[in-house]
Amino acid sequence: MNAVPTSMRAALLRDFGSLTVEEVPVPVPGPGEALVRVRACGICGTDLKIVSGAYRGTWPPELPFIIGHEWSAEVAALGEGAQRSGLAVGDRVVGENHTGCGTCPMCRAGRYNLCERVREPGFKLYGHTAPGALAEYAVRPAMSLHKVPDQVSDVAAALVNQGALTVHAARRTRLSAGASVAVFGPGLLGLLMLQVARAAGATTVVVVGRGPRLATAHRLGATHVADYSAGDPVAQVRAASGGRGVDVVFDCSGNVLVVGQALRCARRGGAVALLGLAGGAVAELPVDLVTLDELDVLGIRSSPNAYPAMISLLAAGVIDTTPLTTHRYPLSDVARAFEALARREAIRPIITM
Ligand SMILES: [Zn+2]
Ligand SMILES: [Zn+2]
Repeated sequence: MNAVPTSMRAALLRDFGSLTVEEVPVPVPGPGEALVRVRACGICGTDLKIVSGAYRGTWPPELPFIIGHEWSAEVAALGEGAQRSGLAVGDRVVGENHTGCGTCPMCRAGRYNLCERVREPGFKLYGHTAPGALAEYAVRPAMSLHKVPDQVSDVAAALVNQGALTVHAARRTRLSAGASVAVFGPGLLGLLMLQVARAAGATTVVVVGRGPRLATAHRLGATHVADYSAGDPVAQVRAASGGRGVDVVFDCSGNVLVVGQALRCARRGGAVALLGLAGGAVAELPVDLVTLDELDVLGIRSSPNAYPAMISLLAAGVIDTTPLTTHRYPLSDVARAFEALARREAIRPIITM
């Protein structure tokens, strides 16, 4: 184990529009916190929006700022009392980006993703309101960390954050063995959702999208793909489900135009889960359809209590991350990684430290 240095390289958001790699002090873990040495950090669409200044004033509250919330790391040091978490220096870990206050009604109900104190001073959403992990080191509450077993690589572990979101979605929709499913949007989230749905027992999975990512969806277990540029996606999904519509639809596209299509793909009494953010855009809701068919429309936010399950799925080898992490960059090439994501060349660019 190397000693912890006093300075580190980090990708700093100093002015909106781009990142600069600079030397900054290594953060010091406080009571109950761990210092982690970052090994891999993915860049996602939310990061692109944060860097562009789309959420300025909130994410981040001020500049300069370190982004990065999809990462894996190794424990480098423990703050006072943090060893009570069961962690030790050298453990490989992934981390949730917030833990909740622990005391409000939603936290007490185990739904800490909906903590009612998120807007109070002191609340930290790492990578959004508190420093992220696009750096050589980061500090996190020890209780937000989960150990990663040897058979899960650093790069695969960086996908736990997004994968756990899809586990949460599968649980909220009560997806069960033999189910039929449609997934809109074959980006990282959709391609993980597809695999988690299969692992949860779905026997029909239709992935809706366009371009070469549909071939990737097939390779990863989709039983059908629907190319919306070749025809009405609703008709294609309904055809794949014998005309009935599917039990559960997952919208991983974040496109408000998809919401109406997703609702029309569900069978009577089916469920539609929305996993994407739409940047404030508003979707039309066909009220009669939702009411008369008793559709369950479910919002999916973050991944409460879902990290351990996603880590287990990766460790068991039932989720294939190889086609999802083809683009890897050193920290010094962070600008190229952002370009690869913006141009949709990379499903998920990964910075490896
Ligand atoms: Zn993200
Ligand atoms: Zn709370």
